[in-house]
Amino acid sequence: MSKEKILIVEDEKDIVKMLEYNLQKEGFRTLSARDGEDALDMAMREHPDLVLLDLMLPGMDGLEVCKELKKEAKTDSIPIIMLTAKSQESDKVIGLELGADDYITKPFSPRELIARIKAVLRRINEKEKLPQVFRVGDLTVDFSKIVVMVKDKPVAVTAKEFELLKTLLKAKGRVLSRDYLLDTIWGFDHAMEIQTRTVDVHIRTLRKKLKNESKRILTVKNYGYRFEYED
Ligand code: CA
Repeated sequence: MSKEKILIVEDEKDIVKMLEYNLQKEGFRTLSARDGEDALDMAMREHPDLVLLDLMLPGMDGLEVCKELKKEAKTDSIPIIMLTAKSQESDKVIGLELGADDYITKPFSPRELIARIKAVLRRINEKEKLPQVFRVGDLTVDFSKIVVMVKDKPVAVTAKEFELLKTLLKAKGRVLSRDYLLDTIWGFDHAMEIQTRTVDVHIRTLRKKLKNESKRILTVKNYGYRFEYED
């Protein structure tokens, strides 16, 4: 698993630098956007694990960004921590109502922020935890034994195919981009020759092996894949 990717949305350069420094020191990967439009673009493209969202932004403000992120299926499950000023008490409440996960009031210490980030990520991971044995339709996946079965017959999958299936299942129906899958399964530092089409190739072989249950792995054109739970 590669390190979590955090999108910083803030227009004040010094704060961005401070955040980047402290987050990277903790082993997080960072991206930054200086305004709302940039932030929405990046969130769609990069699928970060968390967004640190300053509410005071030029143009589209933080609350609007929050609303847009929560409206869009590709980004609605990305956790958001708002950065607020003391004077923005009511905005903070609106933000939480819009679906932000937490907030932190400026000025804050890097330690406090890191602790909040870790707490939110931990909460999300708990929520996304899968049962040891997962069943849907004719498909059974035993995560403790690393066994995949279709109609109770074991299917021989490779380690990468298993990881791919597990990642899709963990997303609980959310769409995952090819880049995200590549990063998560092949790692951030994957060799140059491993391209996003590697993901397509593995999806194809995995689908073949899943037989009638292959219908659950849906292609989202020009973007990625998702796992369909419903019959
Ligand atoms: Ca700002």
